[in-house]
Amino acid sequence: GLSERLQETFKKLRGHGKLTEDDVNEAMRDVRMALLEADVNFKVVKDFVKKVKERAIGQEVLETLTPAQVVIKIVNEELTALMGGTQSKLNISSVPPTIIMMVGLQGAGKTTTAGKLALSLRKQGKHPLLVADDIYRPAAVKQLEVLGKQLDIPVFSMEAGTDAVTIAKESVPYANSHAADVIIIDTAGRLHINEELMQELTSIKSEVKPHEILLVVDAMTGQDAVNVAESFNGSLGLDGIVMTKMDGDARGGAALSVKAVTGCPIKFVGMGEKLEALEPFYPDRMASRILGMGDVLSLIEKAQDVYDIETAQKMEKKLRKDEFTLDDFLDQLQQVRKMGSFEQILGMLPGMGNIKKQLEGVDVDFNGKEIKHIEAIIRSMTPQERADISVINGSRRKRIAAGSGTRVQDVNKIIKQFAEMKKMMKKMKKMQKSPMGLGRFK
Ligand code: GDP
Ligand code: MG
Repeated sequence: GLSERLQETFKKLRGHGKLTEDDVNEAMRDVRMALLEADVNFKVVKDFVKKVKERAIGQEVLETLTPAQVVIKIVNEELTALMGGTQSKLNISSVPPTIIMMVGLQGAGKTTTAGKLALSLRKQGKHPLLVADDIYRPAAVKQLEVLGKQLDIPVFSMEAGTDAVTIAKESVPYANSHAADVIIIDTAGRLHINEELMQELTSIKSEVKPHEILLVVDAMTGQDAVNVAESFNGSLGLDGIVMTKMDGDARGGAALSVKAVTGCPIKFVGMGEKLEALEPFYPDRMASRILGMGDVLSLIEKAQDVYDIETAQKMEKKLRKDEFTLDDFLDQLQQVRKMGSFEQILGMLPGMGNIKKQLEGVDVDFNGKEIKHIEAIIRSMTPQERADISVINGSRRKRIAAGSGTRVQDVNKIIKQFAEMKKMMKKMKKMQKSPMGLGRFK
């Protein structure tokens, strides 16, 4: 699948100080292939690759991240942007009823999605009304009525022979007199886009002036779904897209391309035939699902949030010169604390089992309370003691314990842990060779 392909690609990126053009070009050649194989629109792939390259080449690989992480981060951000950046919600009218018009080709999932949406809106405290406006297939009205009964949601229909525009128009006063605040119009589709279909939909649109025209497309149809969206948007104008059958073995290309091609955001995805199987669409979550490395991404975010680069660089220098002091130790501890335990951090990274084993028996798991203790102890030391623990003899340890309100064995423990931390950091330095390694613990 796409996420496996991308993960393979990123594994090839090795640690250098700076991302070179060759590194990036090679990685992006693979990303390009993976996207094309996933049936992403050709032009979208081209623009995407260009954007990522522009951002990645020459990018400093900061001490806190590995080259692979830098590229993953950029790819993730650009994938998210490609799909619209942030979640797009339904337009809800300030004056009820909100009118939602479902459009799309036959079999895309309009009727099913109308039911799903009604259920979801009712769960949010709304009172939806379903409108049976597919007048061409006798079974269509029946299908919606069965759905309505199942969900206990009212369905508005009119006698056979009534035209679609009249049904849509009449549903509005009906909704008003029945305290419905959302109208969901289930229109008819066709096997293919044609003039007659667009004419009918345009007439309904100008009659009821919907707040939301939702196009339902089948993700399994790949680039056809994108072409359908482009046509509907051109002829009718769309507010949002529902991509159905995302639970099937769709390669994901349609979901990735449709916003870039049409400018129209995906608002929901259908994840199954069940009526609960409708999910709001979150571009960022979709991007990390595609990358298949949600945990790594959240770790990268965290590392960037909490850790300031300058401090990291200063620390590294100190470690190299063996000038790392207890003050620095305290600082590191507080940073680590913000990111979670070492155990957790390592657990989030793929292929880190070995390093985890190496660290077994090294007592470095501190909780918040302990860190307060440690702070008190270190603050009770003189600058000279903080700079060089070898001067801290028995009587000094007693003085420090009294000054910090702790016991001598607590002071001993901290001094021991500090020595272990220094040792561990040396081990961590070796990790940097691994592409996913945490470069910051050097
Ligand atoms: P319409 O012609 O556009 O109204 O399409 P329908 O709502 O009748 O759906 C056509 C078929 O697609 C039905 O068998 C639905 O159960 C199925 N379907 C709709 N949405 C989904 C989905 O998200 N996942 C899956 N697996 N099937 C879906
Ligand atoms: Mg239908």
